[in-house]
Amino acid sequence: MTPAAFAVLTLDAVRHNLSKVRSCAPEAKIMAVIKANGYGHGMLRIAEALQDVDAFAVARVDEGMRLRKAGFKQRIAVLEGFSCTEEFEELLTYQLEPVVHSFTQLEIIETITEVQGCNIWLKIDTGMNRLGFKPADFDLVYQRLNCCSLIKQPINLMTHFANADVANDAKTLQQIKLFNDTVDGFIGERSLANSAAILAWEQSLSDWVRPGVMLYGISPFPEVTGQQLGLRPVMELHSRLIAIKPVAAGDTVGYGGSWLCEKSTTLGIVAIGYGDGYPRYAKVGTPVLVNGQRVELIGRVSMDMITVDLGVVTEAKVGDSVTLWGETLPVEEIALWSDTIPYTLVCGVTQRVQLIDK
Ligand SMILES: *Cc1c(COP(=O)(O)O)cnc(C)c1O
Repeated sequence: MTPAAFAVLTLDAVRHNLSKVRSCAPEAKIMAVIKANGYGHGMLRIAEALQDVDAFAVARVDEGMRLRKAGFKQRIAVLEGFSCTEEFEELLTYQLEPVVHSFTQLEIIETITEVQGCNIWLKIDTGMNRLGFKPADFDLVYQRLNCCSLIKQPINLMTHFANADVANDAKTLQQIKLFNDTVDGFIGERSLANSAAILAWEQSLSDWVRPGVMLYGISPFPEVTGQQLGLRPVMELHSRLIAIKPVAAGDTVGYGGSWLCEKSTTLGIVAIGYGDGYPRYAKVGTPVLVNGQRVELIGRVSMDMITVDLGVVTEAKVGDSVTLWGETLPVEEIALWSDTIPYTLVCGVTQRVQLIDK
């Protein structure tokens, strides 16, 4: 028997979403971003579904090692790079390609002379102010890296946008210009675009694109769903009704008694809660599907359960199927009801939820 809470993953949808990336960026090579356990979808199954991309990207060395140990032979970029010699040596052993973004890393690289052919991604901070060298330091850093026998040439060049999800944003235009001006005249493949830029900033596509969230069928833009962009959601989160009961006017529901029943109705108790990754801050009224029909969340989300007002769904019975998000209930909508972004919802699905391939 399947556990109460489970997520169904449609791998055909991943391939469909990859074809959408290709149609937006037909000239570019694709680095599929599968960090954070494939945005909560299971990194290995997503990598499996994306076999023919040009590279994978993960955030951390251990994620890259897991891919190698599972037998993946593709190029793998490590977006946070490394922060000590030991970690850098692990990267070399597993033939992972670090993002190089700091002088600490540069100094470590300069101490290693007995290895060759390490591909790196030199990152320039064009305004995100997270990782990357300042444009003013680029020339010097590029020259120093070029003197390292370890580093494969030409060096790959990248930057990351802060606001690509904002239409016609001036900062994104500035970042594109600053990047292009900084790397002008230097050889090496370029990479700028995340999902939002792939979909909205054609001038940023360049040699490599780095799609993440769109591969999972999720929109990077607020107020727009992946489906509206021609994407197909990959994850459907399901559970079931485990109790049904009447409530009378004046009764309260859940911790803190925060929901007061104004008119008698029937409640459904669903086996899903924040212990599964359902958002603790989902507001009263958040839509939930019971047997495919929309009902509303009431009371507070607890660790293992939520309560819904079954209202008109009078034929519902214990064991009936409940959908928290998926094809017919966009995760983007649940994110809006929870004051968050869909990225956090899919990444937050916990170990207790069984992932099932479709
Ligand atoms: C996570 C990440 C991406 C992918 O971003 P999406 O918004 O999910 O497409 C691309 N590049 C870098 C550097 C990242 O950290």
